[in-house]
Parts: sequence; structure tokens; C-alpha cells
Amino acid sequence: MNLSQLFITISCDNEGFKHKPNKYEVSDVTKRIRTSPPKTMTVSDFCGLIATGHTFISGCVIDPAANTLKADNTHNFCFFGLDIDNKEYQVTPSEMIEEVKAKLGVEPTIFYDTFSSTNEHRKFRLLYFFEKPIKDYQTFKKMYCQLKLLFPNLIDNSTSNPNRLWFATNKANSVRLNPNAKLLGNDFFERLNEVAPFDCGGGYKRKKDINYSECMAGEYEDIYQHVSFLKEKTHELAEYVIENVSICDYVELAGAELKDLGSYYTCACPFHGGDNESGFVIYKHSNSAFCFTKNCCAGDVISLCKIYENKNYFDAIRSLLSRFKLGVPMDYIDKQKLLALLQQGGN
Ligand SMILES: [Zn+2]
Repeated sequence: MNLSQLFITISCDNEGFKHKPNKYEVSDVTKRIRTSPPKTMTVSDFCGLIATGHTFISGCVIDPAANTLKADNTHNFCFFGLDIDNKEYQVTPSEMIEEVKAKLGVEPTIFYDTFSSTNEHRKFRLLYFFEKPIKDYQTFKKMYCQLKLLFPNLIDNSTSNPNRLWFATNKANSVRLNPNAKLLGNDFFERLNEVAPFDCGGGYKRKKDINYSECMAGEYEDIYQHVSFLKEKTHELAEYVIENVSICDYVELAGAELKDLGSYYTCACPFHGGDNESGFVIYKHSNSAFCFTKNCCAGDVISLCKIYENKNYFDAIRSLLSRFKLGVPMDYIDKQKLLALLQQGGN
């Protein structure tokens, strides 16, 4: 089928902008999108709207009379979008398109440069359209969770919000409809589940019993101050900490109440003090966590500790060893200092 003649239904703004809408304009944009019924048009017409600065969302507003554009008032999402504007990890559109293609086997249907894109710092959007719209926002969010696992540095945090406003562009020439694109069907979702499994079933046990031979136990409180890091073997100690400290225990220690949802836990993010009870996710299969609300932290227990306790990598390892009274192999102990410590203890 000819992609440009494909019909889509989407909620968008009736008014176009020649600049990125400012915060006062955004509330009017939101109101217009929320209160007007979704529009049905061809993908080619949709490109025309983007080129003339019309803001849109990736799905449809369910009830224009409801006084909200919250996620639960949206459905039938027709694309997923990647918003690439990471300063630290700059990529060109073609590099990004190739990276996604390599991981997921798909190409974007539409791409365009944003209002604020410059030659020095390229900012652009890639939109991947589905064969059939994703019906509910929970499924849509789950898909984004998987995409974030695959492209952690490249997906702007707000992208995954079902009610996220997608600003268009004033760079009409940059709007491209990709003739090679195929719409995303079942095979895309199968591949996504394969490369970024979200439901992995059990396997992970909360570990509290430590078994590490030939180690100093935590009977000397201060011993952890004398943990030295061996150049070639620091990663071993780090792995040992990750293996043996339950990330759940640490998140609970930070004040969270975990909800067990089978292959993962959720809670409100205790690290930035969020209140969205599904905003923080701990993946059982990888023993890692992610703050979806504010992107305030991500990764293994050492990464969380670094953020929560404002420590560098080594001090975070020391802190976790100490907090959870893990044994430390003698190799890692600064023996001079330890000896002094033991002598002190003996006095
Ligand atoms: Zn957070």
C-alpha cells in the first residue's frame, strides 16, 4: 500500500505555529487539542500539518468534554516517537535511524527537525507508525518502557507520556515521509519483546544470606572504611555488591512501598519523592530499577546509592557493603590501616 495515502486518526491543534509554543501558548494548545474531536486524514496530509507547525499527540482524546488531557483520557495511539536532543550523546538522523533499524528492524514513517534544531546541535523526531493503533495507554507505556531499556540515553523522559504534546516544526523542508517505511505490525512487537523483555517471569530471589568465603565479616564496624579498590578487580567487588544487596531492600530503605507485579515491582520513586505509584519500576530479571517519572535515577543498586547518598562510585560501594554488613575479601582490605584498627580495638 502507498504509505502517503494511509488514513490515520489523531488529535491535533487547529492552529499552526511558526515558533515553538511558549508556556502561555501551550495551555491554549492543550485546550484546543483536548476539546476538539480527533481528525482523520492521510499520512501525507499529516506531514503537511507538521510542516505548518501544528502540535499533536500520538493518539486520540477519548472525551473532549472531560476537563483533562491526562493519560486516561487518551487512546488509539498511532505512532511511537523518538525525540532526539541529547546534548551529551549527539547523533545524526541517519545514525539514529540505523541504530533503531539494527535493534528493531524498523524504519520511521516520518522524520523532521524540531523548532530549536540548529546545524551545530541537531534535534529531530522520528515517528514510527503502527499498522493498527495501540488501543490503551497502559500498553503504550509498557512499549515505551521497553524502548527505554534499548535506548536509555536517547529517549527524552517525557516522550513516553501518552498525553505528551508533540510540537511540530517551522522547518518545513525537514519533514520527510519515508517511502521505505513499513508499518509496525506483530513482528515488531515480537522483536521488541525479544530484545527488551519486560515480562520475564520469576527467577529473581531477594537475597539476604551472604556466602562469600575467606572474607572479613562486619564485626568491626569501621572495617568498611578500609576497603581498598584493586585496579583490576574493582568490578568484581562491584558485582559482588550488586549480586548480594537486594535492590528491593535498598529502595525500601529509601522509604518506598513496593507492589509486586510478577516480573517487576513498582512504587512511587522515593529518590525524588514522587507520588505516582507506578512511576518507579524494579525489574526482577536484571536486578535494576528505573525512575520513569523524573528519570532521576536508573540502573543497579550502586547507581541508586550514588544518587540517593550523593556519593562517588567507590564510596557507594563502601556504603552498601557497610549498610548491609557484607563480608569483604581480605584482598580488598588495606592491611596497614586494618592493623591499626585492630590494635586500637585491643586497647
Ligand atoms: Zn525519581
